[in-house]
Amino acid sequence: MKKGLKITFLGTGTSQGVPVIGSTHPVCLSTDSRDKRLRVSVLISWDNYNYVIDCGPDFRQQMLTNHVNRLDGILFTHEHSDHTAGIDDIRPYFFRQGDIPIYAHERVVASLRKRFDYIFATENRYPGAPSVMINTIGSNQPFKIGNKTVVPIEADHNRLKVFGFRVDDFTYLTDAKTVSEVEQEKIKGSKVLVVNALREEPHHSHFNLEEALAFVKKMEPETAYLTHISHLLGFHADVEKKLPKNVHLAFDNLVIEL
Ligand SMILES: [Zn+2]
Repeated sequence: MKKGLKITFLGTGTSQGVPVIGSTHPVCLSTDSRDKRLRVSVLISWDNYNYVIDCGPDFRQQMLTNHVNRLDGILFTHEHSDHTAGIDDIRPYFFRQGDIPIYAHERVVASLRKRFDYIFATENRYPGAPSVMINTIGSNQPFKIGNKTVVPIEADHNRLKVFGFRVDDFTYLTDAKTVSEVEQEKIKGSKVLVVNALREEPHHSHFNLEEALAFVKKMEPETAYLTHISHLLGFHADVEKKLPKNVHLAFDNLVIEL
């Protein structure tokens, strides 16, 4: 029997998370657990493999909550802090497993090198610092994780290029504002598409809800989940009701299998 993918939404919030510190916005004060959104990330698991896409500032908490005791690698969409700031917390995995493979564009690797120089240092390493195995990825260059092939999908986050990733029939794309026709072709045929939807108001570097829904309609997945959500989008329960039948708001710790 062919084993499918298990996807765990580790975080579904925008860069500040929901609630925002100190905010008295009704969504930030909501008692619905689906309105509590950590910084955006997913865990992709199959057989004995566990890979995460991004490791933001909530990475440690996400790994503890979901009992992820082994990590085979991290795929980075881009270098913004809400997607990378938790990298120091790979330490427990590093101590048990050795260098942790990372998959990122060379620009993202350069940014990580600068901000986390001690992780990448080759001389006078601080004892206890984690270490990574760098895998540079590029557009039009599918790469392997475990026994699966990943197709990178390039999108524009305003002026910054970001990568989405397709594994089998699952595509994850966050922090996109525009996606070229050529890249859209790589997404088509996905059973499950995860895409960012920040809020209703337009934003310079993120799809708003309308843009995300139009994108889903064009990609025609069986099911789509929206992520990277701001408190400004509204209460989970209210927004979910307004969506087309095959589109859902993701929420933290939601698990899907395909
Ligand atoms: Zn982001």
